[in-house]
Amino acid sequence: MKHDMIYEKAPAKINLTLDVLHKRDDGYHEVEMIMTTIDLADRLSFEKIDSNKVEIASENRFVPNDQRNLAYQAATLLKERFNIKQGIRIHLDKNIPVAAGLAGGSSDAAATLRGVNRLYDLRLTNQELQEIGAEIGSDVPFCVMGGTALAKGRGERLTALPSPPACWVVLAKPNIGVSTKDIYEKVDFTNITHPKTQAAVKALESQDFKSLCENLGNVLEPITASMHREVAQIKSRMEKTGGDGVLMSGSGPTVYSLVAKEEKANRIYNSLRGFCSEVYAVRMLR
Ligand code: ATP
Repeated sequence: MKHDMIYEKAPAKINLTLDVLHKRDDGYHEVEMIMTTIDLADRLSFEKIDSNKVEIASENRFVPNDQRNLAYQAATLLKERFNIKQGIRIHLDKNIPVAAGLAGGSSDAAATLRGVNRLYDLRLTNQELQEIGAEIGSDVPFCVMGGTALAKGRGERLTALPSPPACWVVLAKPNIGVSTKDIYEKVDFTNITHPKTQAAVKALESQDFKSLCENLGNVLEPITASMHREVAQIKSRMEKTGGDGVLMSGSGPTVYSLVAKEEKANRIYNSLRGFCSEVYAVRMLR
């Protein structure tokens, strides 16, 4: 039997700030971070199937197609919770680099919650989807919400913020693997320079691009950069070629630059193309 398809976009996020406040008794780190979505997205389609399974189809060889895939986990969670008897086929067209600090997997999970909600007419609110998303991963609630937000707790307590002023985002991911867990474990609370989160919030509220660029900050950046010199090399190249504000996203290794002018964005993009295999120049999502 032929079924209708549902389509969802899963945008990547970048961290404008990322602070780690302390390690909690439950093992999670208490964080405070500003995240925003960018115009670099995976594309997912959802279809009912007659067998009682969740199937993931993806051409990307780095993406698992079983229970390790966060989209699979999201579909299975809704299927079990709402006692859905039919199956779901998810086609995943991957554009966000994998294991990059851009929350690709979390965004796929969020898109799956939205997609399955529509496919099976579950009528869950955005808030309810965020709560279910928190069971899958700390970044999933933000990815359900989208836009720009201040995230606290382990990332699930969200306050919406104005999106950054319109600008370009040039991203470069060196060809190295970083384990988020390892990087968080290396945070040394006796020697930490916290980002000025409140100043960055103010910059967003007043739409002050210069101040936003001056107040980007990520406590994980020196840790990842000390383990992988490519991170510092990309950062310095972006700064030298005119990036207005340069930062590593998440636990890395992707480094991005906010750029107001298109010609500068092109210059940075071109200077990194020979150096890095994965380079993107995209717009901020508003
Ligand atoms: P975060 O910033 O939340 O730590 P990330 O961008 O660093 O995320 P992901 O791209 O989400 O990392 O991938 C991390 C790992 O998760 C990959 O190595 C991959 O095996 C696994 N994974 C599970 N589901 C997905 C998915 N849908 N897309 C990509 N990777 C996935």
